[in-house]
Amino acid sequence: MRIVVKLGTSTLTHATGKLNIRRVELLCKVMSDLKNAGHELVLVSSGAIAMGVGKLNLTKKPSDIPSKQALAAVGQCELMYIYDKLFSEYHHTVAQILLTGSDVEDPQRRENFHNTMSRLLELGALPVINENDTVATAEISVGDNDTLGAIVAVNVQADLLVLMSDIEGLYTADPRKDPGARLISEVRALTPEILALAGDAGSALGTGGMVTKLRAAGMCMAAGCDMIITNGQRPEDLYRIAAGEPVGTRFFAGKEG
Ligand code: GLU
Repeated sequence: MRIVVKLGTSTLTHATGKLNIRRVELLCKVMSDLKNAGHELVLVSSGAIAMGVGKLNLTKKPSDIPSKQALAAVGQCELMYIYDKLFSEYHHTVAQILLTGSDVEDPQRRENFHNTMSRLLELGALPVINENDTVATAEISVGDNDTLGAIVAVNVQADLLVLMSDIEGLYTADPRKDPGARLISEVRALTPEILALAGDAGSALGTGGMVTKLRAAGMCMAAGCDMIITNGQRPEDLYRIAAGEPVGTRFFAGKEG
């Protein structure tokens, strides 16, 4: 299987913005093992800005654009250093790709990206993709990594996109507010009822929420790629996902509503 795994900031870092070492080590180990088992993996990783916050010992994420861009420049290095180190322990080679919206909107540039990705996968490398936050201002950015994950999954014709977040999946109501909320394990069409469940499940350091996740699901489903939303707290769930077991909420390709 060709699987794109998107890791959200809340999965990678503690609330301080510092690396969640135990979790990231386990994630890299499980992904390395899945690659060893013959799966092709692509990683879309958030966390550059948060890692910049942690590395520069700031107390919170700043709101002005130049600061966020500077922090992304600091944090992206740190992020790749960690991935390079951890995946190298299992003899896997990472490759960094930083994109902006204009790289994937322009057909020629989108094709360049596709060609590079195909070659990287042929070479057995593990592409690690993020938005190029240092230069991506609002007009040219993709904006969030759920959408970026879907763009990547569609571009590489992945079988599956896994969004690892701080929530188990899509619920019938906001589980943080309503104790009666139930997890929806399968979605076969993005009906108005499903879209109305998006609400807002954002975290303090990340960017996405359920709205961006459902948008990503629509893009994937229309292109023949399944998508799963699951909680990144349990990296071993990736084994169950690769084995086709039900985990989180699965959006089945074929109907986009
Ligand atoms: N690209 C951002 C970062 O690396 C994260 C975007 C997102 O969380 O959706 O910090």
